[in-house]
Amino acid sequence: MINVQLGGNISTNVGGLQTLRYGNIEDHVNGLEVVLSDGTILNFLNKLKKDNFGPKLWKLFCGSEGVFGIITRASLKLIPKKDYKSTYLIQINSLNKSIRLLKYLRNKYFDNLTSFEIIFPIPSSLLFNENKNNYNLIIEIQSNDNKNYKNELKKYFSSMNLVINKREDNKAKSWIWKKREILVYNQIKYNFTEKFDISLPLDKWSTFINKINTFTKNNKEFTPYFFGHLGDGNLHCNFKVNPFTKKNCSNLSKFIYELTIKNQGSVAAEHGLGLKKNNLLKKYKPNKNYIFLKKLKKHLDPDFKLGKNKLFKA
Ligand SMILES: Cc1cc2nc3c(=O)[nH]c(=O)nc-3n(C[C@H](O)[C@H](O)[C@H](O)COP(=O)(O)OP(=O)(O)OC[C@H]3O[C@@H](n4cnc5c(N)ncnc54)[C@H](O)[C@@H]3O)c2cc1C
Repeated sequence: MINVQLGGNISTNVGGLQTLRYGNIEDHVNGLEVVLSDGTILNFLNKLKKDNFGPKLWKLFCGSEGVFGIITRASLKLIPKKDYKSTYLIQINSLNKSIRLLKYLRNKYFDNLTSFEIIFPIPSSLLFNENKNNYNLIIEIQSNDNKNYKNELKKYFSSMNLVINKREDNKAKSWIWKKREILVYNQIKYNFTEKFDISLPLDKWSTFINKINTFTKNNKEFTPYFFGHLGDGNLHCNFKVNPFTKKNCSNLSKFIYELTIKNQGSVAAEHGLGLKKNNLLKKYKPNKNYIFLKKLKKHLDPDFKLGKNKLFKA
């Protein structure tokens, strides 16, 4: 038994920069102990890999932001760390090429491909001081082979005319990942403060981005600042809004949410809903699903003691 605090991570079903390879935290949970609002302690802890002795009810508590119960203990699945890591910063000139590259690498290296991040032109130009038409990719390969496929990848990237701007091998303090962190802070610095955390199926990214391009061309008050975890479909599509008015912000969010749903996406990919987005389930989930969720809440926490107004309004 080890003592770490993961309740928040499990109840938000955290993912991150390697979700492509490792999934969200629910993929590493094998059972939970939870306390309901009336004080009932439910022990769903489990060490078994194969267990269909009833449904996995603890899954309800992953990603439900604490509104059904408090997680007090977890059984986790641990996996060994890979020995070697190479991180590439690659310049590329189109989204479609990036998607083709992801498919090729995922097919060839499967679970040795741990990250595939995309940075669209505006954040790229601000971050790397470069041409406004370039995209940048951060690609990470981890394996137990000490060559870590470096030669074959070098040849492949060069055959595709892709520029490797930097490669880091087994770096504890990575310059590339530091830049990825700065990218997030730059949003505030440059006023890209209207943020949407969505995810889309890979085959819908191009359609979605084409619609956005037309929208921003016709509505000059919105400037996009896009980056995301292309590998797992999560796009942070953020904007500068000028003039920053309530009406402009509401038009923008309506447009983004409707376009996302139309393309079979999710309007809350990795940051959850909390209090700020507690109107979205009612608006965008099928009504029957929303009613089922409310009934479940009423059953597990009839007096709304837990997480008041989180996920949806009481
Ligand atoms: C700036 C920012 C960037 C982020 N980037 C990413 C990202 O890149 N990838 C990603 O996946 N996520 C991201 N997140 C989301 C973040 O990972 C989650 O907020 C995080 O996992 C929460 O963990 P915490 O320990 O901070 O929990 P807290 O913030 O303390 O709690 C989060 C939620 O869980 C509930 N909770 C806390 N403990 C328990 C418990 N024991 N039982 C039941 N419910 C509980 C709280 O009530 C709250 O609703 C980001 C969040 C922020 C604010």
